[in-house]
Amino acid sequence: MANSDGTSLWIDGAWRAAAGTFTVSNPATGEPLAEVADASRTDARAAIESAAAALPAWSATPGLERARVLRRAEALMLERATELGRTLTLEGGKPLAEARGEIAYAASFFAWFAGEAERTYGRVIPASTANKRLLALRQPVGVVGAITPWNFPAAMVTRKIGPALAAGCTVVLKPAEQTPLTALNIVALMTEAGLPPGVCNVIPTHDPGPVGTELLQHPAVRKITFTGSTEVGKYLAREAAATVKRVSLELGGHAPFIVFADADIDAAAQGAIVSKFRNAGQTCVCANRFYVHASVADAFLEALTPLVRALTVGDGTLDGVQVGPLIDTAGVQKVEAHVRDATTSGARVLVGGSRPPHLTRGNFYAPTLLDGATDTMRVMREETFGPVAPVARFESEAEVLRRANAGPFGLAAYLYTNDLSRAWRVAERLEYGIVGVNDALPSVAQAPFGGYKESGLGREGGTEGMDAFLETKYISTVIRG
Ligand code: NAP
Repeated sequence: MANSDGTSLWIDGAWRAAAGTFTVSNPATGEPLAEVADASRTDARAAIESAAAALPAWSATPGLERARVLRRAEALMLERATELGRTLTLEGGKPLAEARGEIAYAASFFAWFAGEAERTYGRVIPASTANKRLLALRQPVGVVGAITPWNFPAAMVTRKIGPALAAGCTVVLKPAEQTPLTALNIVALMTEAGLPPGVCNVIPTHDPGPVGTELLQHPAVRKITFTGSTEVGKYLAREAAATVKRVSLELGGHAPFIVFADADIDAAAQGAIVSKFRNAGQTCVCANRFYVHASVADAFLEALTPLVRALTVGDGTLDGVQVGPLIDTAGVQKVEAHVRDATTSGARVLVGGSRPPHLTRGNFYAPTLLDGATDTMRVMREETFGPVAPVARFESEAEVLRRANAGPFGLAAYLYTNDLSRAWRVAERLEYGIVGVNDALPSVAQAPFGGYKESGLGREGGTEGMDAFLETKYISTVIRG
């Protein structure tokens, strides 16, 4: 059983100190939370070697047994959702209820991929001659380097290590420097669930460069799976090409949220709140830009304004708080810059538009609603990653499709309409990997999640989520008689 350290490196089934440490802080208060071991490139190499040594036995472990470990891990996560959620809130900022929800969502990836571990079938291929038997086997790709962001400190981890371990791969995980504690808690719990030493190693660091380089260059690492910014994703893809490592990328988005004239306006306003203000707007699939048909724009704003105004902002550990802090001061500054750019270009602030005056410390920004947004504003083109809803108007379906599909991103899009034909037409023409039709929360473990265009490569979740960690081997056998 893992001891309860939780702040050291986790390599080869044991906590290990590093040469230095770095401070993890609470974004709601700015106060230090923990000193965490700071992995070096040498530590990364040790973790990779441990994963490589563990690979033969783990990949030979029957899928049924790997599934049992994942199911026990799921059960432990759910059993400890309150304490895991609290750590997540303290380091990541999201309100406790949301954090517990993320723990349950994260655990669902273990459950789903446990099932997939039991169903990793190959294929019998019809031969061209009577004396041959042709088979395609599915085998684990090998050691996986997984790099995760801070905005979902639990779910982005399990969405990667769940399928990797289910497939029979071993893992070296580098969590985000702001939120390593949740990742360390999860791996400790997996050890309790029966995961053998070396199968999943966790190496937090405050300087991702050297650790990233080791993951990219070490020949034993056969796969890089990354969630984070498009800029870092492109860098990893370029560098991984040198040794032709497999790459999966879940990158940034800029989701359009379209409200047609025939939509249920109250449902659209409720959906806007969920999609835009969850995690204070720091999700890759959150609505970034609202396109509302001109004939219902006033009604939509009338419905949405009181809902935004009613959101309670504050320290996520306090009762009743719905919107927590942003992850750091750079995050707040980016939101301020986007709002300034929008208002100087003619947008009107209906709610918010500044840091909340009553919160004097921590990285807070008030839930903000802007009217009169235009497509040239930064908030309509770049990921704001904050609680800002800019509303623009449109006149026709063709126009809104063109505007929604403009730009390099293609992760998630939302549309609200009660016209079934329109729903199909628009959903099929949106150049996005995920489309929510009258649904602001489409993500579930059993469905494929990922982006078109510069929003990513490959899919996580669903049956597709296993493909990323499996190679196909073709075996042709000549038989006698
Ligand atoms: P980020 O800066 O790209 O960081 C993501 C991860 O990459 C962190 O662990 C980071 O380490 C690491 N990293 C940074 N530079 C690296 C390098 N040179 N080599 C190896 N690793 C490196 O992104 P973020 O700001 O944390 O996350 C927000 C972004 O993630 C947004 O764009 C959001 O849309 C995207 N996101 C996408 C999805 C999706 O599924 N498509 C889901 C969630 C988030 P450090 O923490 O040490 O910097």
